[in-house]
Amino acid sequence: MKKAHWEKNLVELIRRTSTDLPADVEQAIRKGLRREKKGSHAHDFLSMMLENAAMARRDSVPLCQDTGTLTFRFTVPSGFDTNGLVSLTRNAVSRATRLGYLRQNTIDSVSGEPYVTNVAHASPMMEFLQGARKTVDARLIMKGGGCENVGQQYSLPETTLGANRDMEGVRRCILDAVWKAQGRGCAPGVIGVCIGGDRAKGYAYAKEQFLRKLGERSDVKVLARLEERLMRDIRRMEIGPMGLGGKTTALDVKMGALSRLPASFFVSISYMCWAFRRRGVLLGPEGGVHRWLY
Ligand code: SF4
Repeated sequence: MKKAHWEKNLVELIRRTSTDLPADVEQAIRKGLRREKKGSHAHDFLSMMLENAAMARRDSVPLCQDTGTLTFRFTVPSGFDTNGLVSLTRNAVSRATRLGYLRQNTIDSVSGEPYVTNVAHASPMMEFLQGARKTVDARLIMKGGGCENVGQQYSLPETTLGANRDMEGVRRCILDAVWKAQGRGCAPGVIGVCIGGDRAKGYAYAKEQFLRKLGERSDVKVLARLEERLMRDIRRMEIGPMGLGGKTTALDVKMGALSRLPASFFVSISYMCWAFRRRGVLLGPEGGVHRWLY
């Protein structure tokens, strides 16, 4: 393992994620812009978001001052030294903070003191999977606090919504979550959903949906149809960018399902803001870049 290569390319992964809005997200915002009336709040906000994105990309500065919770997802070959990768990743986060790609954004919850390098227990978060490839697939999601705050979890049946333990019940929960957010969490955003699982895995799997490209539908037919229908339903709510009216309330809905126990039926909903920061890279055994993803 060539430490210098690994660290340099992990820093570059952080820089790209923090400063360069992915093409699929930008395309979805442009699509929303075409739908809104010129001179409307919705049109102005979406134009501003695109201008911000262009400026952040040009100047290599964070897309938003809240550089968010960093979650790395590594898929590594069999026998790979994951302990080494943990320490390289923590070093890369510290360096990216010094270079200004990340803001000092991590606080000790008990003392209220900041962690100046953004490195702390479980910060950044890291998940490891084992894959068949010889390369390491490294993906990073940065999720801000504003959009994290408007996530919701429902336990069906939910009588106040008339939501039973079926797909119609799931649909009602998702619409309720979007309605409650009312543009908070910096709409338009992407709605990640997990049907089933337990409470912890439900939220984690809802967030995992953000690794999918916008515009791509679930390969489970029922969910793909529901994703489409929800996009139409959400558009009709007219909440709009930042909650100030318009058709572009969500850029996409991404649904996944896990098995559940007979006694519980959770619907977990994670909301990602328009500053949808997600990037990935395939790295060789010495830490060299094979290919950038997204
Ligand atoms: S919700 Fe997103 S765009 Fe809004 S402040 Fe937080 S990170 Fe920034």
